[in-house]
Amino acid sequence: MTEAVTIEARNAVKAFGQGDHVVRALDDVSIQIRKGEFFTLLGPSGCGKTTLLRLIAGFEMPTSGTILLDGADITELPPNKRPVNTVFQSYALFPHLTVAENVGFGLTMQGRPRAEVTARVAEMLALVKLEAMAGRKVSQLSGGQQQRVALARALAPQPKVLLLDEPLSALDLKLRKEMQVELKRLQTETGITFIFVTHDQEEALTMSDRIGVMSAGKLQQVGSPKDIYTRPVNRFVASFIGETNFLPATVVPGGVRLATGDVVEVAAQARGDVTLTVRPEQVRIVGAGEAGAIAATVKFLVYFGTDTHCHLALADGTEVVARVQSPASGEAGIEAGSAVGLRFASGAAQVLED
Ligand code: ATP
Repeated sequence: MTEAVTIEARNAVKAFGQGDHVVRALDDVSIQIRKGEFFTLLGPSGCGKTTLLRLIAGFEMPTSGTILLDGADITELPPNKRPVNTVFQSYALFPHLTVAENVGFGLTMQGRPRAEVTARVAEMLALVKLEAMAGRKVSQLSGGQQQRVALARALAPQPKVLLLDEPLSALDLKLRKEMQVELKRLQTETGITFIFVTHDQEEALTMSDRIGVMSAGKLQQVGSPKDIYTRPVNRFVASFIGETNFLPATVVPGGVRLATGDVVEVAAQARGDVTLTVRPEQVRIVGAGEAGAIAATVKFLVYFGTDTHCHLALADGTEVVARVQSPASGEAGIEAGSAVGLRFASGAAQVLED
């Protein structure tokens, strides 16, 4: 992956409606997407992901701000003049055409020679492993196969950037997992920049080189999946991605003081009242009364097979969840009602200001 920027949005604002009913779908979003990366826009429904994708595709014009491609301003360039293609959730295939005709459609419309179209279609069908289906009508394919046709069709004109708007959401869980791997393979093999939109945090974590987390028209954080998971910048990002604990705290020299009076050593830039966050898998359960451990009581356990979620309460009533490895059959485990001690793995707890 190079550091060269392919797509850039600078101070993009998109407002819909008029008067008292203006919705700022995008509220001053600036973002740089690198050449050849798998970039995911992640956020809850209505946060502006699709709107940003539509600005990049050229289906919408920003109210203000600029969209650049390889450093050139393309804000006013119509969609068909941009080397950008989109795969929609609905696939938008032509049901009466064959698989090969669907894949070749864009190329034929561009007036490419028939021999070139045939060769490119064969290459694309091989890429998505649908060679055997070339002559079938799209209406005779399964959902997963239709998704592959839509991908092959979008990749056929060799776009610089492929936009994918929740392309897997119509598939059942098993197929979705298979297609996640498939998309990652396609992106790696073609080297094309993928910008993928999803509200599914697991999908974003497993597939992306980098993720942009959005909420209410604003970009909250951009980073690698690991950055976003281990170093969320605020409460929204911490709670939207994965499970986490929030503990009210106050900054003191060297760390924070919890409501229980326990002091946790942690780096804190902020002052005053803050929130301490720590992922359940970073909470260790130790013996009650162990020096430096936070006293807690086990409330109940939820068994997940390989691991167990242990719901605990601190002395002030704050709830904390610890994820522990499930005990082997016959082995004694933690029990509801037990008094225990808690420790946070070194460097795992983080201070959030909001
Ligand atoms: P979803 O996951 O549900 O598709 P999203 O994050 O992609 O959500 P957008 O579709 O970008 O969100 O919408 C952002 C906001 O802008 C929403 O409040 C939506 O209702 C509003 N919006 C989007 N398009 C229009 C439009 N054409 N006219 C008016 N409001 C719009």
